This record gives sequence, C-alpha cells and structure tokens, in this order.
Amino acid sequence: MQATTPKSSEAPIRPTWDEYFMMLAKLAATRSTCLAFPVGAVIVKDKQVLATGYNGPPAGSPHCTSQGYCYPGLSSCDASKYMPSRAVHAEANALAQAAKHGIATAGARIYVTLEPCLSCLKLVISAGIREVFYETPFNSGESAFIRNSFIAEGLVSLKQIQISEAIAQKAAAFLLNPTSVKPR
Ligand SMILES: [Zn+2]
Ligand SMILES: [Zn+2]
Repeated sequence: MQATTPKSSEAPIRPTWDEYFMMLAKLAATRSTCLAFPVGAVIVKDKQVLATGYNGPPAGSPHCTSQGYCYPGLSSCDASKYMPSRAVHAEANALAQAAKHGIATAGARIYVTLEPCLSCLKLVISAGIREVFYETPFNSGESAFIRNSFIAEGLVSLKQIQISEAIAQKAAAFLLNPTSVKPR
C-alpha cells in the first residue's frame, strides 16, 4: 500500500489523543533492542508525555540485536520457559525512566503496543497508573484470570485501541516525505 499525502482540497484529518499517543508508542518500539517482538510504551498525564520506553536489556548491557541473540542459542528473550528474559519490558523501562528523572506517575495513563504482561501490569498499578491502552492482546489462561481479578478489584482498566487506516496513512506519508512543506 502506497502512502500518499492528502490533497489540500480534502479536510485535514487529525489523530484523536488515543491515536496520537499510540503512534508515539509505536515510534518508541522502533528503538527496541531485543530480538523478541518490539514493544513501545508511553506514559501520559493530562495529555502530556511523561516518559517513554521500549523493550531491551538494562542500560549498559549489550543489546540482543547487536550480539545477534538474546541468550546463546535463543532467538528471543521470551523464547524459553526456563531462562528469564534479559530484556526490561517497555512499560518497566518507561516507569524506570520516570523514576530516574523524578517524574510522578500517579494518576497517569499508559499506552502500550502490547497488552502488559502480569509483571508489568503489577508495576503499572503500583506506580499509580489506573488506565492502560494497548493495541495487541497478550494475556491468556491464568494470566488473563489474574488480570481480570485486578480489573474486578477496581485497580486498573484496560482498553484495546486501534489507529484508524486514514490516520496511519497520514502518519506514514509524514514519515516518508518532508513534513513541513507547502501543500501542492
Ligand atoms: Zn532479547
Ligand atoms: Zn512486561
């Protein structure tokens, strides 16, 4: 599919706030340094970005992407049932970035390209974040059961959201071409 710049005669379309922050989470995911699927996260309060994160080994440790494997013989940090992941998940990295810089996360929301795993969901809840917006579902079975118990306890809400085709096309056109030029 070819991304095209909308013609000037068409009414300009703008992303909703949810679409805007999810697009930022997707951009953060482009920085992922783990060979597992890329994940990006953005913590937002009052429509202001507080912190961003993507999945990768802790700061200072070699990137899975540069050494060519997560563990020797393991193509993904999430590929083994026995070895713990080397990667810090995107949500945890965003929370760590906020902590490192002394930014309060109470009452914030988080936008993530993948539904948080239980470890991250627990961190998110304990960091005072009550609303989670995600693109792709993740938890199933017992993990979904525990997630649902947190929801039932009123600790957190989760909502799956999708960027509209028209907005995705606009963003792609902005990325593929110089953005700030006169409309033709
Ligand atoms: Zn990895
Ligand atoms: Zn996680």
